[in-house]
Amino acid sequence: MDFENETLEKMEQKRIDYNSKYAAWYIRMSEEMRSEQHFAYSETLKKKSERIKNCMDIWLWDLYKNNKLLDLQKVNRCMNNRFCPNCRKFNLACAIHNLKVPLNNLLLDGYYPYLVTLTIPNVQGIELKRTIEKMNKSFKKLFGAYSYDLEGKTTKGFKDRLMGFEGALKVLEITYNEESNTYHPHFHCLFFSHEYDPSLFQKNIVGEYSDKRKSYNFYSLIDIQIMKLWTMYFKELRVNEKNYSNFKIEDCFIADIREMDSSGIVEVLKYTFKDTDIANYEVFKTIELAISNKRIRQGYGILYNLKLEDDADGEKLALDEFLTEMEVPSLLVIYEIKELLTSYKDYRKISRKKSHEDI
Ligand SMILES: [Zn+2]
Repeated sequence: MDFENETLEKMEQKRIDYNSKYAAWYIRMSEEMRSEQHFAYSETLKKKSERIKNCMDIWLWDLYKNNKLLDLQKVNRCMNNRFCPNCRKFNLACAIHNLKVPLNNLLLDGYYPYLVTLTIPNVQGIELKRTIEKMNKSFKKLFGAYSYDLEGKTTKGFKDRLMGFEGALKVLEITYNEESNTYHPHFHCLFFSHEYDPSLFQKNIVGEYSDKRKSYNFYSLIDIQIMKLWTMYFKELRVNEKNYSNFKIEDCFIADIREMDSSGIVEVLKYTFKDTDIANYEVFKTIELAISNKRIRQGYGILYNLKLEDDADGEKLALDEFLTEMEVPSLLVIYEIKELLTSYKDYRKISRKKSHEDI
């Protein structure tokens, strides 16, 4: 990829807007934890503060003076893919890169991709961590209800299911509602199946009236089944024939499944939360406590072993196409992005890492 000057300016602005703020909040949180005698955790938070504050403060480039080219070798990053806006972007680019080949292969193998959204009602901050853990458990059960056994037989799972799924990719997103001071954790997922029956996906069953949209919600047969199972698993109800058929649509949490379009993958992977949702220290602390050390993206079934986080030594593009004449590079160390925008403004700045393509 090219680090255009404009891209670098944006990166610098994000650092200024967010990283120092989060660094200060990590320190505040670290002090609170120390006073509550959580010493080890307090130290961890202090380190996180250091790292997020110093993110991108050392850049190592190969400098090709005659070619006016800077080729990025290494940049010091905090790797905080929850709060650091720049690291999150790198992380997303890596995830997209790492998924490209396996997802393409699934499509070539005749799998159909589906977009699935699973929600629960908003919760208070104090409930967030426990709720996410419960959602993860419920998701496992839901996927189990639709999964095949290892021989590809459909004997496993929920007896009356309308179809089966061989793989899934689940991504957590949390939005914050300032007005009610509540959190809305939900899952965006990709499901993969060999099965495709369009009649299951026709949204022609009338649901409840939505005040927000001033219209009725419409569901498909498979929507309703997924909503019922998702809600029942979350509420820890026994899923048997009788409970299942007695469970009413109006008691279900909202869920949705549809055929995936081309924007699907990025849409699914994009957000854990938006920077603008981190309205104040309390929100920051609540989310940090709820999701630190947790996986944000997770594969299931045939996607179980996917590598979705940062890839330190990815493949690189060949250097030849960037050089107009042969040249031995010298090492350039930069401590501030600003320097790249001034002293090296006219240089082409590239990263040859394939996983950086989508930044
Ligand atoms: Zn960072």
